[in-house]
Amino acid sequence: MDTTECRTFADRLAELLRDEQHAMADFLVALAEFDQRRGWIALGHASLFAFLTQRLGLSKAAAYFRVKAAELIQRHPAVIEPLRDGRLCLTTVASLVRVITTDNQAELLPRFFHRSKQEAKAIAAELLPAASPPRRTVITAVPASTPRTAAAAAETMSQPVFLDEPESTLSAVWQSVSIPVEATPVLWVEPLTASERRVHLTVSPAFLEKLEEARLALSHSLPGATVEDVLSAGLDLLLDRDRKRKGLVANPRPAPVEAPAEPGASYVPAAVRREVWQRDQGRCQWKLDSGGICGSRLRVEIDHVNLKCRGARPVAAELRVLCRAHNDLAAREALGDAVMDRYTRKGRRT
Ligand SMILES: [Zn+2]
Repeated sequence: MDTTECRTFADRLAELLRDEQHAMADFLVALAEFDQRRGWIALGHASLFAFLTQRLGLSKAAAYFRVKAAELIQRHPAVIEPLRDGRLCLTTVASLVRVITTDNQAELLPRFFHRSKQEAKAIAAELLPAASPPRRTVITAVPASTPRTAAAAAETMSQPVFLDEPESTLSAVWQSVSIPVEATPVLWVEPLTASERRVHLTVSPAFLEKLEEARLALSHSLPGATVEDVLSAGLDLLLDRDRKRKGLVANPRPAPVEAPAEPGASYVPAAVRREVWQRDQGRCQWKLDSGGICGSRLRVEIDHVNLKCRGARPVAAELRVLCRAHNDLAAREALGDAVMDRYTRKGRRT
């Protein structure tokens, strides 16, 4: 290519980039309106985040940034133009939304123009000195033989891992549940090799004391246990307890022929709970408008399909697994907002 050709090519690239930025801004403005009108509830999704991943097929990270942008646009429409002309990058909105206010908007917004995600984080951290500074605890050693470049490490380091839907994107269908506003992903995980991950974790001194105590407690049964061994043993206990709660024990007792009915109580016999958890695979069964189910494993509980059945001896066919948001929605549909508001913080406030 000669210089003239290269210039034409560069102009074409600039034009394509502008189109992309405009399309992105249009998408985000429409998404903000969709969220404001709670369109995702009518389509059966537990949150805007769930809608973006389930219906539009976005990755969790891509959905996360768009949820944050939709939130930002609803509160501060002044960000629309900078998003449209490319001054404001989508990956910086999660930091911006934490610190922007109506009072500081005019002064603060330009500080985020043409910034990278990390630079935006630094600005937000500076403005929120009360927030805990990021500290690193290296849990696994890096094998010397692992071929890695500093650039590759920096790239993977900046990737939050969402084990499931981040709690910070859970929309407040269930108003009485306190939803953390802090935009924290579940864990920071750095892939080292095919079979090894490094976890970055900020902990308190009390946690380290507890960890040491657990290591000593395990020194008979697990001599020379690594941190991973100790934490893993603890997690096994926790998961065991959870499985018992769900009736998923290894050697279940057969269901009694005549299980004691407890009128008025929402008692579900262990055998029935086990059947429901296994059938529903521990996932929310709420039907989506687009087909399929919500599928969330976050704050799931057993729900009576028909609330009027409550109090009778429950059978698996009358029960299903629902996430908290959909459990609340089901209750609102069955009992009405007036009744439900009596039990929620939102209702008590108003
Ligand atoms: Zn659900």
